[in-house]
Amino acid sequence: MTLPLAAPLLAWYAAHARQLPWRGENDPYKVWVAEVMLQQTQVETVKPYYQRWMERFPTLRALAEASQQEVLAAWEGLGYYGRARKLHQAAQVVMCEHGGRIPEEVERLARLPGVGRYTAGAIASIAFGKDAAAVDGNQRRVLARVFNLEEPLNTPAGERRLWELAEAHLPKSQAGAFNQALMDLGAMVCTQRAPACGLCPLAEFCQARRLGVQEGRPVRRGKAPTPHYQVAAAVIRREGRVLITQRPADKLLGGMWEFPGGKQQEGEDLAGCLQRELMEELGVGVRIGAPFGVYRHAYTHFRVTVHAFACELSNGTPPLPLEAQAMRWCLPEELGGYPMGKVDRQIAQRCLLECNPLS
Ligand code: SF4
Repeated sequence: MTLPLAAPLLAWYAAHARQLPWRGENDPYKVWVAEVMLQQTQVETVKPYYQRWMERFPTLRALAEASQQEVLAAWEGLGYYGRARKLHQAAQVVMCEHGGRIPEEVERLARLPGVGRYTAGAIASIAFGKDAAAVDGNQRRVLARVFNLEEPLNTPAGERRLWELAEAHLPKSQAGAFNQALMDLGAMVCTQRAPACGLCPLAEFCQARRLGVQEGRPVRRGKAPTPHYQVAAAVIRREGRVLITQRPADKLLGGMWEFPGGKQQEGEDLAGCLQRELMEELGVGVRIGAPFGVYRHAYTHFRVTVHAFACELSNGTPPLPLEAQAMRWCLPEELGGYPMGKVDRQIAQRCLLECNPLS
């Protein structure tokens, strides 16, 4: 069943659209960057990153020509670093294979590294005016409520149904505005908790509201509990420098720098874990000294508690990057030049503080 959603929604959008730095842009590069940054990340967090990014890499060419380290450094703190690596890679593909012109069609966009169905639809509709759907988390919630979808949406069938509904309701030649209007409505009115149905332009069509079940939509299939790992990390010091290693390109946080260490295994204590990890990663044993802080972080699918320790090499064997891409002995003040994830950056800051206790 199709409902006449477009007219009230677009009228509402004309009056209430969010003012965002990337709004009104039809430069496909800018739309693309904003959409990638917004995946899994709050708008307010993205704003300063987007602005700095556009100063640093104002064009697709500038991004394609930058080094991966520059790109990761500009992304540091936004998380999900695979997004930055793939965006960089895709910019290089567009330069080499598409003559520097970003493709306009969803199918061609979706062949670029890191561009999924949502991002392809957003770029095609917002930047190129194509009639393409783009179902993000906000749209998903609004559609699940308006159509009172009772099946879980995090299943292939639920996903298919959502996209069919979104495509069936796209107003011709206005998909860009329609998609953004649904995103804004989900962000500002049809919020996860306590949706403001009294202010909603779709209220008269909303089946979940009529039945009073809006807060129970979308339905989610039960998720397995999030695993929580204990991790040991070594701050290995030598002559005023500390050792950092660069993570393998194909792993989580690929290309970022870290203090070596790893996950505690069953039956291991933290010291045993650290000795094993350092032997595997660097081929060395260490003398484990004082604790160097406990750091907690939540990733999408797991959480970690990282126990850092000050360490020294226990014999003359020089460490080798057996599992890492590279390793460096850095002065604490040099650590800022190496892109790192949140936990490693906190450890790096503590290294700097201990080296300059009054700064
Ligand atoms: S009426 Fe309420 S539940 Fe339905 S779409 Fe609008 S805000 Fe969401």
